[in-house]
Amino acid sequence: MSPAAAARWLVFVAALGCLAEVLNASAGDVDLLYRSCVEQCESSGQIGGVTFRHCQFSSDGAPADGPWYMQEPQYLRWKQLNCKSDCRYHCMMQRESERENLGLEPVKYHGKWPFKRVFVFQEPVSAALSALNLIMHFNGWLSFFLLLYYKLPLRPQSKRTYYEYTGLWHIYGLLAMNAWFWSAIFHSRDIDLTEKLDYSAAAALLGYSLILSILRTFDVKDEASRVMVAAPLLAFITTHILYLNFYQLDYGLNMKVCVAMGVTQLLLWAIWAGVTHHPSRFKLWTVVFGGSLGMLLEIYDFPPYDGYVDAHALWHATTIPLTYLWWSFVKNDAEFLTSTLVKKAK
Ligand SMILES: [Zn+2]
Repeated sequence: MSPAAAARWLVFVAALGCLAEVLNASAGDVDLLYRSCVEQCESSGQIGGVTFRHCQFSSDGAPADGPWYMQEPQYLRWKQLNCKSDCRYHCMMQRESERENLGLEPVKYHGKWPFKRVFVFQEPVSAALSALNLIMHFNGWLSFFLLLYYKLPLRPQSKRTYYEYTGLWHIYGLLAMNAWFWSAIFHSRDIDLTEKLDYSAAAALLGYSLILSILRTFDVKDEASRVMVAAPLLAFITTHILYLNFYQLDYGLNMKVCVAMGVTQLLLWAIWAGVTHHPSRFKLWTVVFGGSLGMLLEIYDFPPYDGYVDAHALWHATTIPLTYLWWSFVKNDAEFLTSTLVKKAK
């Protein structure tokens, strides 16, 4: 590509980016007072007597302080990112306190409620709860692993587990831990990259657990049928994730896809538990009921109480006990199927 063509491309991509920015604007960041505050902060590095270290650049665009290695382009970009984030935070807090004095309700800024920071953490409660969810999944997966390989009998010849879904649940455990890891990172520091990683990991987990729910509830055991069920769904989820990352991060579309995948698997599990009279159906129903309540919290989004706990954080709190129950159901299912298979083998 010639330099001129490359430049045209860049302008085109930048214009698309601006369009997306405008379409995604929230009530808070269209406010003119907020906008001029951010502009002034980013250009002068100073506002209302507060100095922003990351916004101190000399006239040639290099940071005003630091040795040669801090003049690197990568470092400069990092500094600019932090300057923008610090200015947005400061101006948001300033606008919010002015609004509060006028008796106005909180509004969203760049798609998010005004949260108070703790150290560098942007949404400390959601970040901490995500980390707890990660620990709960690790704990659940570990006890599942120990149960299957050390407590339950193994097949005499192959030394493999009787339970036919062991490998599938291992992959599920990995994807769940991966999703909560990126959720914790994203709620700590919200930048373009961490946001995409969080959305992608969550979509991958939801999509995979939909496949798993179909395979388990329809008792799909042989490899060929499993591939036949999984392939089209995997193709769909991969396309969706690529679309979000490299075409457009469409929040509305992503919400629809995730809710559709979520509702389908919750319904499948709930109906299957009733039809088969599964011994652990009450655990499963509790998880389905709790999961639906969680979805309601996501839809009836309310602003953070005291600047810390919003609907989303509360939703991350509800998934902690549900995760415990969920893995407990998975273990019960393994025990149940193993005992039926062992009885058959005798
Ligand atoms: Zn979250």
